[in-house]
Amino acid sequence: MKFHNITKDDMLNGEGLRVVLWVSGCTHHCKDCHNPITWDIDSGVDFDENAKAEIFEQLDKDYINGITLSGGDPLHPCNIWDIGNFVEEIKSKYPNKTIWLYTGFLWEEVRRLPFMQYIDVLVDGKFILELKNVKYHWAGSTNQRVIDVKKSLDTSEVVLYDNK
Ligand code: SF4
Repeated sequence: MKFHNITKDDMLNGEGLRVVLWVSGCTHHCKDCHNPITWDIDSGVDFDENAKAEIFEQLDKDYINGITLSGGDPLHPCNIWDIGNFVEEIKSKYPNKTIWLYTGFLWEEVRRLPFMQYIDVLVDGKFILELKNVKYHWAGSTNQRVIDVKKSLDTSEVVLYDNK
């Protein structure tokens, strides 16, 4: 897997202060995508042990709520293996930190991925320019759902994340 950036103390991509990994590769090609530079699966640099260490250094901090995986699409078929291993490792090292994941796929397409149990919140669906709403919390367009993964897996229904 390759990535473009690791951003720190991010307040815009999930609850609280977060470290964000921006991976390479996206097949959805949404009009007015916020990050088209990441579409090419071969762009960016290798996600290696140094990159992981940079993320763990952030997760070691008490005030960091967790990690957000974005891009690009972390669930691009070429990323799934590495993302699965990585989220499993994060949950075992940092059980109290949350993992958010942004994908252009729909929940119904990805809910059976074996590592979904390690994700706390999944924001699903393509960005649709006509449904853009800057007041919509945590997502760019109102078709996208901010999903509480554990509750959704438990009930087999889509349960939206409620941060109140
Ligand atoms: S899914 Fe996200 S990264 Fe991919 S094209 Fe759409 S907005 Fe861009």
